[in-house]
Formats: sequence, C-alpha cells, structure tokens
Amino acid sequence: MSAKQTLMGHRGLDREEKLIFEMGAEGRSGVDLPATELNEDCLGAAGRRGRIGLPGLSEPQVVRHFVRLSRKNYAIDNGFYPLGSCTMKHNPRLNEKLARLPGLGDLHPLQPQSTVQGALELIDVLAHWLKTITGMPAVAMSPAAGAHGELCGVMAIRAAHEAAGETRSTILVPESAHGTNPATAAMCGFKVVAIPATDQGLVDLSAFEALLNDDVAGMMLTNPNTCGLFEPDIKRMADMLHEAGGYFYCDGANLNAILGRTRPGDLGVDAMHINLHKTFSTPHGGGGPGSGPVVFSEALAPFAPVPWVVCEGEGVYRLIEHVNGEADKSFGRLKSFHGQMGMFIRALAYMMSHGADGLRQVAEDAVLNANYILANLKDVMSQAFPGTCMHEALFTDEFLKGTGVTTLDIAKALIDEGIHPMTVYFPLVVHGAMLIEPTETETREELDEFIAIMRHLVERAKAGDEQMFHDAPELTPRRRLDETAAARKPVLTYAELEAAQ
Ligand SMILES: *Cc1c(COP(=O)(O)O)cnc(C)c1O
Repeated sequence: MSAKQTLMGHRGLDREEKLIFEMGAEGRSGVDLPATELNEDCLGAAGRRGRIGLPGLSEPQVVRHFVRLSRKNYAIDNGFYPLGSCTMKHNPRLNEKLARLPGLGDLHPLQPQSTVQGALELIDVLAHWLKTITGMPAVAMSPAAGAHGELCGVMAIRAAHEAAGETRSTILVPESAHGTNPATAAMCGFKVVAIPATDQGLVDLSAFEALLNDDVAGMMLTNPNTCGLFEPDIKRMADMLHEAGGYFYCDGANLNAILGRTRPGDLGVDAMHINLHKTFSTPHGGGGPGSGPVVFSEALAPFAPVPWVVCEGEGVYRLIEHVNGEADKSFGRLKSFHGQMGMFIRALAYMMSHGADGLRQVAEDAVLNANYILANLKDVMSQAFPGTCMHEALFTDEFLKGTGVTTLDIAKALIDEGIHPMTVYFPLVVHGAMLIEPTETETREELDEFIAIMRHLVERAKAGDEQMFHDAPELTPRRRLDETAAARKPVLTYAELEAAQ
C-alpha cells in the first residue's frame, strides 16, 4: 500500500484538518453585533487585561471544521464496537425522541416541586424498575457514572461502620477488578488488599477466607467478573463476609449479562451501581453524560445519599433533600440537583419498550453473541479460560508466540480493517488480554464479518506478515501515536503547542 503524498495532506475527500486556531483571519466573524456601551470601569479588577484570542471565522468555516472532525470520529452509529467491559450497545432512537418531548426536555432542576410532579413520578417509576430488576429495596439515583456510583456505595459502607462505632480500614478487591474499584476504596481512605484469582479466572475462595478479619470493611466484586465468567461462589463469599461484619459492594457494570435471570439482591449484595449508559442503552462517552444509580440492601439503605423521591399518595411526589428527619443517617449529598434526568428518561423508555420479557432476552442474546464469537475463534486464538463465557469472550496472546506480533499490533491492524479494537491488556490477570464484548444489538452478519477479519489477521500473523502489523494502521489520518507521551505530557493549549515547536 503506497502512502501517496498530496499537496495539502488531504487523502481524497478525507481532508487534513488544521486546529481551529490556525484558521481564519483577524476581525472575521459569523455575526454582526452592535458595538457595546459597556462601562469598563464597572468591572474593576475583573476586567479582561489581554486579548481573548478567539479565532476569526465565518460560519461555513466553523460548520465545516466540526463536521469534518465528527467524521474522523468512530462511534457505535458507524460500526461494530466490541470494547470489552464497556457494553457498547445501540442507543435506540425512541429514547432520544422521548427525551426531547418539551415537557421533559425543557425542565429546569430549580423548578418548584409542584410544577415537576410528572418528572418526579418518572424518577420513582425508574427507581421501581431498578429495584425490581436487582431485587434490592432502595436506590440512590444521583450518581453520575459507574465510578461515581462506586464512590457512593463505599461512602455508605463507611457511614454504616461509623454509625456502629466501628473502625475498619480494609477493602478486599479481586486481582481482576476494574481499576475504578481499588481507586474508589483508596479515595475513601481504605487500604486495598487484593484477593488472588484461581487459574480458572475466578476468585480464590480459600484465599478470600484467609483474608477475612474484623478489620475488613467490605469487598468490591464484579459479577460476571471482568474475565467474562460468573462467580459461582458469590453467595458463599457474601455470607462469609457478612459473618465477618463486612459489606458486599458489587460492581454492576456487567449487569447486561444477567438481566432478568439473576437478581443481585438474592446473591447477598449490599450495594451495586448500575451503568444506565451500558446496560440500559443511554449514550456513552462523548454522547453522554453517564448515569450510575446505586441500589442498596436494607442494611445500607438508611445511609444512602440525598435526594430521593417519596410517593405521598396517588400521584403526589416529594423530594427528600436534607440530612435530617427521614434522612438523618444519610451520608449527605453527592452531586448537585437530582441526577442525570435526561438519562433517566432514556433508560425508562428502553425498559418499557422492551418489557420484562424483552430485558431478559437482552441478557440471553448478549451471552449468545459472545459465545458465538468465542466458539468461532477459539481454534485459532487462545481462550483464556475453558468453558463457555457470559457477555464477553477473553483471549490471551499465547497464539501470537513467536510471530513478533503483539496484542497492540492486532488492535492497530483491526482499525485498518474498519473495526474498532476490542479492549486490550485488561483484565491484568491474563497475558496480553483481548476482551471482546459484542452485545446483543449486533446481527449475525456483523459478527461473521468480525470473525472473518480476526481469522484473516491471525493467519497473516502466523504466516510471518510481521511488518504489516508493525506498520498498522496505514489507512487512518494519523499512524502510530506516542500514546505514553500523549498521556504523560499532554499539550492542552494552542500557546503550549506553539512553544513546543
Ligand atoms: C465501565 C466500568 C466501570 C466504571 O463505569 P463508568 O461509568 O465508566 O465510571 C466500573 N467497573 C467496570 C467493570 C466497568 O466495566
């Protein structure tokens, strides 16, 4: 493949894009505003001293710049996105339509409660679905994402121990955990102790038992875990932990695999976040924001953060917003206002349009799709753990041994083939991990194409095509980036960019 040079660096109609600060001209503007008559003196020391430094651009320049940037972006709306642990499923357009209804889209969080009774009812109905699905008696709706939900859950655990007059300083976290779990425990002031994994990719039950003592405040565990496996001993672990006086925080990011089949409340869970932007199809990443409600057991419910909605009788709703009276044990407020209302609308639309039977089928199809990929790749790639998987298929880089090709090279080559890479090098417990989560919203044809591409790449790696992999990606606007420098020495302003050149 020749990298043909063009005069301006454009590649056909895929144009090289300058920074917006490198475009335009002094004094150019897309609008015609009258001169201001602002009295500069009234601003005092707050008055601007230097030039504001905005680029001078016409409206078409601005529109083209951002449309071109958007076309360089990859999203669930333009292709398969098998990023393991992230549940990148389709965002139904029905959700979007309902979230834009004027009565919902134009709400303001400072409106008097009497004028937003319908919105409070919507939060209450969504809370009811979340409690029913998980088999848990209470839910805090305000956390803004999964990691924020973890913070909420662990703060409730800390508050419960404090209320009982106990000082416990340790949280147990499995080796395979998502990085946010130990980070959350550490942020709340706990010491993190790792629970070793077995060679089957599960929590080592006897090692777990040996770690239990009266300093253990709780454990944080994902089920199905980040190896895509259901932890069969989860109820026993919960019982042993409770016996030792600890609380069980379950990371609910993988709820998509067990929806309508297993209720975390029946497994002894005390607190669990639910990523509405994963399991319940609300937009992810740049399309967000996220939303991470946390369900609570009877034991932790009193410590949940304010606000929460109560139904005072037929169609009458009230927000409890202060830490006193009915909420005197609450650990306080986690976030301004009442949670991500726009995401509540989308998540409830998703639940109601699927119904209970449809949600159960979501989990079944998600697991079926992951196993379809596993079954069609395990003869040429190295399955990390034997048996079937839940919602994601995990491979190690064992099959690449001696080829000179790495997990990272496979990810880069996938980009040239038009596929967003899977999650790589996570979980940490397997070497050169490739974690593939197709979700239930992909068709058989889409999965077959992915499988064909993966098999083709494995064949090329084994045939000695090492150079092709090291050169990939060749068809992107930029090739291999220095990702470490980008993370460690980010250039965040145009002025810095200038100075760096
Ligand atoms: C996504 C994820 C999280 C964090 O959720 P955010 O909404 O991204 O903060 C935590 N744990 C696991 C296992 C996840 O997959």
